[in-house]
Amino acid sequence: MEDTNRNSTSSAVISAIPSACELPEPDVQIVTSGGLRIPVHSSILAMVSPVLENIIERPLKHRSSERVIPILGVPCDAVSAFVGFLYTSRCSEEQMEKYGIHLLALSHVYSVPRLKQRCTRGVSQRLTVENVVDVLQLARLCDVPDLYLKCMKQIAAHFKSVEETEGWKFMQDHDPWLELEILKFIDETESRKNRTRRHREEQSLYLQLSEAMECLEHIFTEGCTTVGPYDMEPEKKTGPCNKYTTCHGVQMLIKHFALCKRRSNGGGCYRCKRMWQLLRLHSSICDQPDSCKVPLCRQFKLKAQQQKMSADGKWKLLVRKVLSAKAISSLSLAKRKREEELRETMGSHVFKTFRLC
Ligand SMILES: [Zn+2]
Ligand SMILES: [Zn+2]
Ligand SMILES: [Zn+2]
Repeated sequence: MEDTNRNSTSSAVISAIPSACELPEPDVQIVTSGGLRIPVHSSILAMVSPVLENIIERPLKHRSSERVIPILGVPCDAVSAFVGFLYTSRCSEEQMEKYGIHLLALSHVYSVPRLKQRCTRGVSQRLTVENVVDVLQLARLCDVPDLYLKCMKQIAAHFKSVEETEGWKFMQDHDPWLELEILKFIDETESRKNRTRRHREEQSLYLQLSEAMECLEHIFTEGCTTVGPYDMEPEKKTGPCNKYTTCHGVQMLIKHFALCKRRSNGGGCYRCKRMWQLLRLHSSICDQPDSCKVPLCRQFKLKAQQQKMSADGKWKLLVRKVLSAKAISSLSLAKRKREEELRETMGSHVFKTFRLC
């Protein structure tokens, strides 16, 4: 009874192939673990798979004996789907769903690159917490680096749940090296994330400094709500600056700097030191010191020229980082336009000092 079923399955494989009727009689039998025999054509097999071609070209032991190729260790229906693909270059979503992993293994063993691509895609779309460890092992065995990496990332992202699966426990018992490799990958992913976060934090600091630099020029060139060039009327509106979010803070700092008693008494004032550094930083990146309205710009430039030889490396690095942050931020068109406007104002006015009101 069972045999009849198997035979009908095997003939179904071939009859499902559109051009099968034009082919000669099958001359090879594929035999599966479950005893299913699938009659196939050696010419087709040899054309699609170099490994099967080799097997077919081997001389037979007995001249009269029928050629049989065993494909064992995978479900019968997976072998049927495999043979179907050899004939039609197609396999259904249902077959992929049920036998994607087996088909991937077969495509690797019998060297069928198109099926391998199809399976890599199909299997990677169906990755779950439950199967990811098995697929990882298969991807390594079948030499599919993309799928391997995708599995690694998935395991790293859902490690707590993956750790609970049968697949993980089995792998721990049977392949401790792979476990080590996975743990190393997770560790590296974590430190890469930390490095990226640190880098982002640094970038945002340099960007803030770069914006503070633009804001300084804005205040001392065109003036803003409470601070500006001495011969320019304060703006009528009392609302906050609409150009720079930091403008109010920078203006407060400038006012403090102008009036602070502790600074003039030689005491260490944190806010004054900060302002001093902003002014020095401005001078370091200012490329128009002769027409610049920012206080102390030229003085700092002169001092820097005198001390050129002894300029400290950390400061130079800071200047470079702020400049590059500025370059990145000024890629946006809006900012470029604002800079052009700023340059125009700088060219048309000459201010001697600045007002506080
Ligand atoms: Zn402003
Ligand atoms: Zn102060
Ligand atoms: Zn300047």
